[in-house]
Amino acid sequence: MNASPWHRTLLRQMARTGLIPDDVTDERFAALLQRVSLSYDDADKQRYLHDRAFSLASQEMQDLYDRLQEASQSEATVQRDRLKAVFDTAATGLIVLEDNGQIFDLNPVAEMILGLDHDTQVAEPIGSVLVTADPEDPSTVDLQHAIATGENWRCSDVLLMTRTGTLSASLLFRPMASGGGVLAIEDITERKKAQAELIWRANHDSLTGLQNRASLVDQINRGLQRARRYGTSVAVLFIDLDRFKRVNDTLGHAAGDVLLVECARRIGSAIREVDTIARIGGDEFVVLCENLTTDSAARERDTREIATRIIKAVDEPFMLDGTPAYVEASIGITFSQGSPVGPDTLLRDADIALYEAKQSGGSALAFYDDSMIDRMQYALELERQLRRALPTDELWMAYQPILALDGDNVIGYEALARWNSPQGPIGPEEFIATAETAGLLNDLGRRLIRRSLHFLNDLPGDLRLFINMSPSQIAADGIIEWFDEALEDTGADPRRLVIEITETAALADFRIGQRLAEFQSRGIAIALDDFGSGHSSLSSLRTLPLNLIKLDRSFLNSTVDDPRAESLARMLCDLGHALGISIIAEGIEDDDQRRFAQDMGCQYGQGILLGPPTTADQALEHAARHV
Ligand code: C2E
Ligand code: MG
Ligand code: MG
Repeated sequence: MNASPWHRTLLRQMARTGLIPDDVTDERFAALLQRVSLSYDDADKQRYLHDRAFSLASQEMQDLYDRLQEASQSEATVQRDRLKAVFDTAATGLIVLEDNGQIFDLNPVAEMILGLDHDTQVAEPIGSVLVTADPEDPSTVDLQHAIATGENWRCSDVLLMTRTGTLSASLLFRPMASGGGVLAIEDITERKKAQAELIWRANHDSLTGLQNRASLVDQINRGLQRARRYGTSVAVLFIDLDRFKRVNDTLGHAAGDVLLVECARRIGSAIREVDTIARIGGDEFVVLCENLTTDSAARERDTREIATRIIKAVDEPFMLDGTPAYVEASIGITFSQGSPVGPDTLLRDADIALYEAKQSGGSALAFYDDSMIDRMQYALELERQLRRALPTDELWMAYQPILALDGDNVIGYEALARWNSPQGPIGPEEFIATAETAGLLNDLGRRLIRRSLHFLNDLPGDLRLFINMSPSQIAADGIIEWFDEALEDTGADPRRLVIEITETAALADFRIGQRLAEFQSRGIAIALDDFGSGHSSLSSLRTLPLNLIKLDRSFLNSTVDDPRAESLARMLCDLGHALGISIIAEGIEDDDQRRFAQDMGCQYGQGILLGPPTTADQALEHAARHV
């Protein structure tokens, strides 16, 4: 038999152990050995195949691994490049720190924020480039601690000192698992400025830079708290400019703005250091006076002093592009009382007092008291009634004769407004003031003047008509054109017309003089009414184009037994004569007064002795008898 080395080895082993004789001839063994041999061959083949397969597989694995290796290396490169790009272009400053706090890398924004140079800073300790402006500020120490302990850390606002100056920064530190970490740094200086600007805007008036209402309310609240704590009192002064609207309308808004800014400055310089000033509306200012005594007489005296200074400061003319403009301040004042009050109540009460101050004709101040509410309600009711009465016959004109004192010749009639309200007659001084504050006087005045012009047409001969106009009517837009039209419509002769203008501070308004001159150029005469009762008599004589003066009746009342008033009246008459202006004495009630007026040199007179105001029909009858 064809035995393989395996067979021989096996046979020897079997013979040695006595299992078979040395020379194997037995057919049974031959067949067994044949089967064993075949199995060996088979196993050999299998092993070869396995070896081959394994070596192939590991080769593949190796290739795969290499390929993977290559791939992951290029991926890492890509990742690193991407990271670098992000790092370099990040809008936030980024500083990579080692675990000992040294700078490993920093991006351009970080360099820019801190004013650093990249290469010279790498490897520098962070503490040497991040310097707080305040040496006591613990931020950098906290950061060092976070780096050392590998903790997250942030500081939303720190003032840093850099080579180029100081800046506000927000800092954020994130540790890395491998040690050290990244410090993000953001320059928030501009953002803080913008925030500060927003906060400023929310609390201030942008035109004047004064506090606004919201901020004033806070200030009053704080003032009240202090007053309670220290046993003092606060005053709220509500200031409103009279005739500001006219400046705005005639000289333009830009000029109005200049006036407001200047006004804010003047009010500011009239108050004390502890006081606060705010602008809470177009031409409304509020002054908060703190630290006042609770003694009512003393605090009223102190506050009156401040308010008077404000009124005087505002009274001075404002030069707007070379043109003088005039406004007046009215001031309403209220105090914090013993009982707790809030800013709203104080502002409301001061506003009510202001209303009262305004009623007394500008450049005035009023202290709040509870009765004002009733009066204000009455005034508002009067205003409502007046609006209703405007187009009705409740409003009519009375006419009072004016006579030459050297005989009994009537020279004309003064038209005086009357109101028969459902509640009874209301005097013109009251309803004209109401109409003026309610903005109704223009309308009311024009209606009444039109009626008077018809009356003038009915007056016989060359009798004249005297009409009253307040400065606000004279200064109103379009009044000259309106007059021209009314004169044409009614056919009234302007040369028989006299406009009486009351002497008030408003007369100082530069446009009044111009308007009066325009009336004069149409043949209308101008009379200064109530002369000697106001406060600018002499300057009006110099600046206004006047034809006549009506001497206030207070002179006739007092002069009889008051030598000083008498000499003053005489001087005023002399002055009039020297200027070529005729004088009409008002309020002649008895023969003594008539003689006295004549004695002083008044050519004309008016008063109940010479003839009371009557209806138009009665006046026309009166006129018919006297021409
Ligand atoms: P005024 O222009 O000075 O008018 C004279 C005032 O004195 C009138 O008062 C008149 O009734 C009054 N009076 C006349 N004689 C005497 C007298 O002998 N003794 C006394 N004590 N008073 C006398 P009235 O009618 O109450 O008018 C008051 C003021 O109202 C006027 O003063 C004038 O300033 C104003 N007013 C009247 N009507 C008008 C008007 O239509 N328009 C304007 N803007 N104001 C007017
Ligand atoms: Mg008059
Ligand atoms: Mg008068």
